[in-house]
Amino acid sequence: MGKCKFCDKSDKLISEVLEICRDCVLNKDWNVVRQHILTVHKNMRDMVELPEAPPKAEDNIKLKCNYCVNECVLSENNVSYCGLRNIQKNQSGELPYPTKVRGYIHGYLDPNPTNCCNAWFCPAGTSTGYPEYSSFKGPEFGTYNYAIFFYGCTFNCLFCQNSSHKYFNKKYLFNAEDLANQIVRDDRITCLCYFGGTPESQLPFSINLAELILQKIKKENQKRIIRVCWEWNGSGNAELVDKCMQIAVKTGGNVKFDLKSFNEKLNVALCGVSNKRTLENFKLLAENYFGKRKYLPEMSGCTLLVPGYVTPEEVELIAKFISDINPDIPYNLLVFHGAYQMRDLPITPRKQAEKCFEVAKKYLTNVNIGNKFLLGYS
Ligand SMILES: [Zn+2]
Repeated sequence: MGKCKFCDKSDKLISEVLEICRDCVLNKDWNVVRQHILTVHKNMRDMVELPEAPPKAEDNIKLKCNYCVNECVLSENNVSYCGLRNIQKNQSGELPYPTKVRGYIHGYLDPNPTNCCNAWFCPAGTSTGYPEYSSFKGPEFGTYNYAIFFYGCTFNCLFCQNSSHKYFNKKYLFNAEDLANQIVRDDRITCLCYFGGTPESQLPFSINLAELILQKIKKENQKRIIRVCWEWNGSGNAELVDKCMQIAVKTGGNVKFDLKSFNEKLNVALCGVSNKRTLENFKLLAENYFGKRKYLPEMSGCTLLVPGYVTPEEVELIAKFISDINPDIPYNLLVFHGAYQMRDLPITPRKQAEKCFEVAKKYLTNVNIGNKFLLGYS
């Protein structure tokens, strides 16, 4: 059972690691609360040798990265917030930077239909998109999604469900051209899905790989459908995320935003970084692209129902934000299970999940609950 340092309340829905309740995150003196939160995140990041905050070097600048909201400015001794750009290691030749031609990834075949968060409307799992974006009139059994797990992340979520992204080395460095050849050669592959970590730290690689695949298919005159999807925290550079969206739209893929919270303070508490860019990017892409492919949504929002923190009130704010842009954008609520530094929190209580679902339905036409199997009977 966790205890809030600010109001002394003890509750099983207060994280033992975060040591602050949702109310206090939102309502107590932010300067004091923020300091506490950043210390919690710093302690966690020290353990994996990642910087506590995005470096902002003023002298002897060696690299400026603008791929994500953190906009790291690195001098010789700095490591980027995501950990992928490390001047010292790079100079000694140990760990080359990821670029558009090489990325730190783990790629594998995942049988369709997958457990992807958008499987409820994706052509691979449904009959949506036939015949333009799928050759199958129904779920694509016997085909594969080529899943690309990106190492590195631009957030520091306490509940990270893929924390292995923090541990990478040279053996995870792959060349885009080789990967593209491998994927094009295997005609069982009908999807390419980028996730992680998050793709943001390596967006140019993800774009280049997708473009290489599409060029090769075109060159070989294949009538091949490969949908390209991005699952991300949405913190990317606006120009790059726009490019990704264009590829997703034309291939029948989609873009999934993790909308972890609406309140910026809560995002900083749970994920260590602001969600301002995420909300801006979501709005921008939705306004420019959503609804053009009539029967196949171009993008979706997804929220993990962290018990005690991502409450029905939070979900209402997110649903309202989405609805103000377009009430038809699909919204997926994910049942939480303990992971990483939040293993002490229980699975989302059924009541909370149902309440969140009802609240979201007030604003949006297309709401789904994912990981439903985790909910008990009570
Ligand atoms: Zn409190």
